[in-house]
Amino acid sequence: MAENFPSVLIIEDEAPIRRFLRLSLESRDFTPLEAATGAEGLSMAASHIPDVILLDLGLPDMDGLEIIHKLREWTSIPIIILSARGKEEDKITALESGADDYLTKPFSVGELAVRLKVALRHLNRSSSSAEQVFRTGNLKVDLEKRQVLISDKEIHLTPIEYKLLSILVRHAGRLVTQKELLRDVWGPSGGDSSHYLRIYVSQLRRKLEDNPAKPRYLITEAGVGYRLKVD
Ligand code: CA
Repeated sequence: MAENFPSVLIIEDEAPIRRFLRLSLESRDFTPLEAATGAEGLSMAASHIPDVILLDLGLPDMDGLEIIHKLREWTSIPIIILSARGKEEDKITALESGADDYLTKPFSVGELAVRLKVALRHLNRSSSSAEQVFRTGNLKVDLEKRQVLISDKEIHLTPIEYKLLSILVRHAGRLVTQKELLRDVWGPSGGDSSHYLRIYVSQLRRKLEDNPAKPRYLITEAGVGYRLKVD
């Protein structure tokens, strides 16, 4: 095991999934650490200080949310939730409790690698200065100049559209919940504007996407929020 590869702590009770994760991580140059219970996971997190934690919400000994709360008492290590399809409520609660992202089972090695890369990039970025120019595909967003370009052509956005996009850019690749977007765009009173959020997202898609019905950049995470896709 190479010492300089980023370490990923897997907290998952099902041995076949743990094995799949371990092999996937090794093939992508991560150093896996494994825990089969919540208690073991918490003690390994404290003793090894991994770079990222993959946490299964359904563990036999402890509730996944309790684990997130306990971790967040002392660390901001990115936590990526592993959860079953159709458990949107659980994901939202986990994200609001301090988890950073989630993967829905079953997922591919490629998806896993992208999420880990995003989590690590945000981890590194918080210690240096934030990047001001974001690029993905033919989309370019210059946060300093407040400029949005598609294939080098400037796109005019309304102030709310721009605000929404800039929040997604700052969290590029990560899931941003509806609640976070509402709060950040409309302020504390924005809690019940989810209907406006959908309208602004579809306006943005019409301006940014080749095919707004099949978005390439502004991805909907059904029932949870939105994600700006990175290459
Ligand atoms: Ca489980």
